Amino acid sequence: GSARVLVTGGAGYIGSHACRALAEAGLLPIVYDNLVFGHEWAVKWGPLERGDIGDRDRLDAVIRQHRPEAVLHFAAFAYVGESVADPGRYYRNNVAGTLTLLEAMRDNGIPRMVFSSSCATYGIPRSLPITEATPQNPINPYGRSKLMVEQMLADFSRAHGIGWTALRYFNAAGACPQAGLGECHTPETHLIPLVLDAARGLREAVTICGTDYDTEDGTCVRDYVHVGDLAEAHVKALARLAGGGGSGAYNLGTNRGHSVRAVIAAVETATGRKVPVVEGPRREGDPAVLVADATRARTELGWTPRFTELARIIETAAEWHARMHA
Ligand code: UDP
Repeated sequence: GSARVLVTGGAGYIGSHACRALAEAGLLPIVYDNLVFGHEWAVKWGPLERGDIGDRDRLDAVIRQHRPEAVLHFAAFAYVGESVADPGRYYRNNVAGTLTLLEAMRDNGIPRMVFSSSCATYGIPRSLPITEATPQNPINPYGRSKLMVEQMLADFSRAHGIGWTALRYFNAAGACPQAGLGECHTPETHLIPLVLDAARGLREAVTICGTDYDTEDGTCVRDYVHVGDLAEAHVKALARLAGGGGSGAYNLGTNRGHSVRAVIAAVETATGRKVPVVEGPRREGDPAVLVADATRARTELGWTPRFTELARIIETAAEWHARMHA
C-alpha cells in the first residue's frame, strides 16, 4: 500500500485540506483527532482514529496499527483570547500534548514531523516583511505554546534524530468547495467567515477591531494565504525531509498585506451584497501589520502559492459559505 502519514487534527480546517493534498500525492492520511473542534465529515481520504494527543496509550495503539512513516501535527487549540484567559488549557494541550506525541514518535521510531506553527510566534515584529530570522517574541500564551513546540522539536531532533519542519502560517483563508472542504469554527472568530456571515444576514454586522492603526486605512493588515496552498506546503515539506533535507522553519504567506476594510470590500464584491459594519476598539494583542517574506519556502521547498489575489481567495470562501448555508 501507499505510505501512511499520521495527521493529528486532520478533521480540522487546515488538517483536512492537508489530507486531501496527501491523497493527491499518493500518500494515505491516518487522521488522529478528538473531534473537539474537528468534523467527521471532513475526513474522507483515509481512516479516522479518535483520540487525544495527550493520550499515550491511544497514540501507541494507533501507531502500532497503522505504522505511519511521518506525522503532520495540526492538533492544537487556537483561540488567542481564550489562551490569555485560560493559559493552562493551552500549555496542557498544545505543549504537553505535543510532548506526549513526540515521545510516542521517539519510542515507536517515527522519524519525521511537520508542525503547524504560526506567525503568532513573532509577536509584534521589529521589521517587515517577516522573515524566519525575525526574532520570535510571542505576546500571548497561544503564540508561546507554538514557539515552545518549535523549541522542543529542535531538542528532540538533536537528541533522537527526529527530522522536523515548522510551517509558520500567516492568515489561513479560503476553501476548496470542489472537495467539500472549508472553514467551519464554533465559535467563529476569524475575519473572513464573520464578514461572510454579515453579508448573508446571519449576523447583524461585522465589527472592525480598531480603525486607528498606523496603516493606510487605519485597520490591521494581514497576509491571507489560501488553505489549499498551505496544504500543498506540507506535502513538499514531507518530501524534503524524506529526501534527507535538514530541519527548519518556513513562513507561509503571499508576501502581500490586506487591510480589514479591503477584506470587507472583497467580500462585498464576491457576494454582491453590502456588509453592515460597526467600528469598534482594538482587539488586545493585534499587531498593526503582519506580512510574510516566504522566500525561504519558495527556494527550499519549491512552494509557490497558486492564490496570490485576495479576491480569488475570498471567492472560494464565499462559495463554500454559500453552499454551507444553502
Ligand atoms: N478582525 C476584525 N473583526 C473581527 C475579527 C477580526 O476587525 O470580528 C480583524 C483582526 O483585528 C485582525 C484581522 O481581522 O486584524 C484578522 O483577524 P483573525 O482573527 O481572522 O486572524 P488573526 O490575525 O487574529 O490570526
